[in-house]
Amino acid sequence: MSIQIIVEKCTGCALCIKACPFDAIRLVHKKAIIDLDKCNLCGACVPSCKLKAILLEKSEATCVTPKIKNYKGIWVFIEQKKGKVQSVSYELLGKAQELAKRLSCEVSGVLIGSHLDSQLDELIWRGTDNVILVEAPELANFQDEPYTNILIELIKKYKPEIVLCGATAIGRSLISRVAAKVKAGLTADCTGLDIDPDKKILLQTRPAFGGNIMATIISPNFRPQMATVRHKVMLPMEPDKRRKGKIIRENFDSQVYASRTKLLDIIEEIESTVNLAEADIIVSGGRGMGAAENFKIIQEFAQVLGAAVGASRAAVDSGWMPYSHQVGQTGRTVSPKIYIACGISGQIQHLVGMQSSKIIVAINKDSEAPIFKVATYGIVGDLFQIVPALTKKFKEVLKK
Ligand code: FAD
Repeated sequence: MSIQIIVEKCTGCALCIKACPFDAIRLVHKKAIIDLDKCNLCGACVPSCKLKAILLEKSEATCVTPKIKNYKGIWVFIEQKKGKVQSVSYELLGKAQELAKRLSCEVSGVLIGSHLDSQLDELIWRGTDNVILVEAPELANFQDEPYTNILIELIKKYKPEIVLCGATAIGRSLISRVAAKVKAGLTADCTGLDIDPDKKILLQTRPAFGGNIMATIISPNFRPQMATVRHKVMLPMEPDKRRKGKIIRENFDSQVYASRTKLLDIIEEIESTVNLAEADIIVSGGRGMGAAENFKIIQEFAQVLGAAVGASRAAVDSGWMPYSHQVGQTGRTVSPKIYIACGISGQIQHLVGMQSSKIIVAINKDSEAPIFKVATYGIVGDLFQIVPALTKKFKEVLKK
């Protein structure tokens, strides 16, 4: 890309100076001059010039993977810990199957580790058409270098069109290295994936600008199109034991498995008191709770239901609940069977963390609160009357 002022046309009106967000234009002898060190070629100045004296030339992106048509199929990196496939991978397989139908292609899972045969049937029942399996004793636990090398070798050999991975600690570490090495774009932390019906490319949606907008990102010129996806955002497929799939075993030279780091020990994360991510029912409180001590009514309700307690950021920021309970963009993403939101307005940053819940019950005194737009059931009223009444009724019904 390049930019230049057509000096003959410029009258020194200075409108372009006002339009430039980078302070990159100044007037010299009544002619605009662009400081190319400051200019980032955003083009904001171009429409400001009534005399069309600014010429911005955009070159078409040159493609480092010119034979885009050779790239076929959707891959999911299957995350395993201690030889057990992690649930985020099943969620991605469910989504991958949905996308594959739109692209008329197959879904392959890439599974790396050791002694993983017991996991293969379930992977096929839950959405893989092929499992590409790389096993070696030294691959039992995730390590950046060998896993990266293997995935790169596989991508070079099989040329997948799309590669998906969980936005987990392992996924984030692995896939960014792979994307850099294969010179592909990567959209991290997606909350939505779709296929453009005309161009047949992956539409990758994620919150941007601090969660104030949802941006849809595309990677039209490079392959594979790569994305990480948050845990608990996509729904897994129900296992279908009639599904058939192919197991493709791959092996590489020992240098591909080499690592400059040595894994000494794995120390399990200390279980937090609330396991929000795995809970079937969550009762959450927001600013409408009014005070820390009022969370008692949420806790009593949760206890009767056998539920975990969640909170909005407003409640956490007020010091009413610890951060480990926060649901939302900067907290946990949850997908329980039932999510009960009490005194939570339903701002987008909260919704991205819970809107894939199967049933959402909203209790709010404001009938216009945005939470009602995503709620399956809405109760308009004062939570200080409604929640204790529900607790009492459930106690009777559940004989607690
Ligand atoms: P409010 O929006 O103030 O809503 C309180 C609600 O309670 C109102 O709808 C009111 O009608 C209702 N109410 C009041 N009294 C009663 C009563 N007696 N009975 C019934 N209803 C009552 N937020 C999150 O939750 N999680 C996040 O992870 C998160 N991340 C963020 C990240 C960024 C970068 C930014 C900018 C914001 C983030 N937020 C997050 C904040 C988010 O924008 C909202 O400010 C927050 O979710 C609001 O919390 P709330 O719904 O509890 O409070």
